[in-house]
Amino acid sequence: MSGERILVAEDSPEVREFIADYVLKPAGYEVLVADDGAIAFRLAREKKPDLIIADWRMPNLDGLDLKRALTSHSINVPFILISGEATEEVIAQAALSNVSAFLRKPLKTDVLLKVVSYHLSQQRKSLPVADSTEKRVRELETLQSIGHALTSTLDLDQVLSRVVEAAVSLTDAEEGSLLLLDEYTHELVMRAARNFDDQFVRTFRLRSEDSLAGEVIRTGTPMLFGPNMPQKIKTSYLVRSLIYVPLRMQNRIFGVLGVDNRINARTFADTDVTTLNALADYAAIAIENARLYQHTNAERLKLEAILTHTGDGVIVVNDSNRIVLINAPARAVLNLDENHVAGKLVTDVIINQEVRDLLTHESAASPQKRTEIILDDNRVFNASLTPVPEVGRAVIMQDITHLKQLDRIKSEFVTTVSHDLRSPLTAILGYVGLLKRVGPINAQQDEFIKRIEISANAITTLITDLLDLGRIEAGFDTQKEPVSLARLAKHAADGLSPKAGLKGQKFVANIPESLPPVLGNAIRLRQMSANLIDNAIKYTPEGGTVTVNLLEADDQEIFTVSDTGIGIPLADQPYIFDKFYRAKGVPDTIQGTGLGLSIVKSIVENHGGRIWVDSKPNQGTTFTVVLPKYVEKKK
Ligand code: ADP
Repeated sequence: MSGERILVAEDSPEVREFIADYVLKPAGYEVLVADDGAIAFRLAREKKPDLIIADWRMPNLDGLDLKRALTSHSINVPFILISGEATEEVIAQAALSNVSAFLRKPLKTDVLLKVVSYHLSQQRKSLPVADSTEKRVRELETLQSIGHALTSTLDLDQVLSRVVEAAVSLTDAEEGSLLLLDEYTHELVMRAARNFDDQFVRTFRLRSEDSLAGEVIRTGTPMLFGPNMPQKIKTSYLVRSLIYVPLRMQNRIFGVLGVDNRINARTFADTDVTTLNALADYAAIAIENARLYQHTNAERLKLEAILTHTGDGVIVVNDSNRIVLINAPARAVLNLDENHVAGKLVTDVIINQEVRDLLTHESAASPQKRTEIILDDNRVFNASLTPVPEVGRAVIMQDITHLKQLDRIKSEFVTTVSHDLRSPLTAILGYVGLLKRVGPINAQQDEFIKRIEISANAITTLITDLLDLGRIEAGFDTQKEPVSLARLAKHAADGLSPKAGLKGQKFVANIPESLPPVLGNAIRLRQMSANLIDNAIKYTPEGGTVTVNLLEADDQEIFTVSDTGIGIPLADQPYIFDKFYRAKGVPDTIQGTGLGLSIVKSIVENHGGRIWVDSKPNQGTTFTVVLPKYVEKKK
């Protein structure tokens, strides 16, 4: 016989659902429902519930008639009458019909559960346990229902109360308690109790060192005492028989579950210890679940607070391009009002094309890692993509407006100064050239003139580079047309191969006659090729090899310049594209401004391409440039 099956007879679907689904089922009870009195009567006869909750006003048979009908058929399970009206007449009629309890609607969860559990335990006590098999079935059913409660609710108080209640009922004890060890004070506190005074439970604190419960925690062994060895658990708390079992999680014991008898002289059996052990396992799981839940929740809240309060915008998406999180700064940047975007597709939520491309870029060959977002109000954001293992990808957006402004001011300054220097330099070179024509010059004077020319030429190169860079960065070279990169690269290679010859280098150019065009500026693309080839020759000692390759792959053209030269130390590699940067250890004899690669990089990026370097000191260097093929727009 189950002590846990409850029939709910109620015609209002809302109230029925509330009692069944929100109160009884989460507490682990099996629930039968009926929406009128006649059906309830039939179910009561067929399914033999252990308790009935019935509304007073119901179609066919009202609550009191149902109770009378049940009594006349000797069905005397606890009967709780519920009603919205509580007139004296109703209460009197309920009392006369031998109703166990009368509750007024609206019902309160805790009150209803208390009344139900009280009447069920009274009922159990009044029922003779026919034999041990039947008792065992009851135990198993109770354990099963607690297991169910454990998985269906995160309310720790509710689960622990059910565990203690079951402990008392299954061992037929007078009292039950669940004591937890406070790690800091080493005291035991009562976390749940049955048949103890509320005030006693609240104030109960027991030193673990000199208590029986403490001993169970220390030894990890259950304890069973009979009436012939009374134990004083605490001053004024004397029991005749008792069981304590440890609460254990991963070899750590953190509390005890106990039942006792103060008045009754009945001894507990060994099987009671087994039952209590099973219940203790449930309690331990519930406590661990609650602890993990609290921990996870606290971590989640912490992370949320960090993400919300960081100034940078953060967007996280999963591998199917669905939004996992967008923090407030990112919402502000992307002009998103909506708060509830989690789970939606990136393409449904984010309008900004750059961010969309960054997040949804699928071409593994050229996974884009960062982009700049320029807003209507001229603010500039640097958006970078980072993989997040086991989650997906995150985009972090930083406001770089002030850096961009600084950069612009600096470039404008450099351009202006370069311009102003160019005229006097041209004059110096012109007059130096004239010097020899106006009169005889001795050998030393001639040497000095040569040095002036070399220096003035070096400054002119620097200024030309600076002006070029300024122009490219400012985007003045917007004039683009379909051009043959193959032809331009070949021109550059042909122009420079004599220079390699002078150094006794082997110069190899694998450039196909014709390749599809790229969209670009011919002068700049040739400059880019020439700069890379020139560097390769410059940084490769005599007798080395310089190889230029151009090939097509899918929708791209790949241009590489390799040499067997001095190479670039790993530590310098990230900076070689910066303005004026020259790697450490470059011999003084190799002249340069440190601007060539900045120009190359600006040109490549202006053409929608990418450039990178692979290099090993003393072995050689390869620069790779990838440019998109020109695609004719459909009219
Ligand atoms: P520079 O005028 O100094 O050549 P670049 O901007 O062209 O300036 O190159 C920057 C630095 O990168 C060089 O100073 C050199 O240290 C390194 N570098 C560039 N190309 C090569 C190469 N092919 N081999 C070795 N080092 C190189």
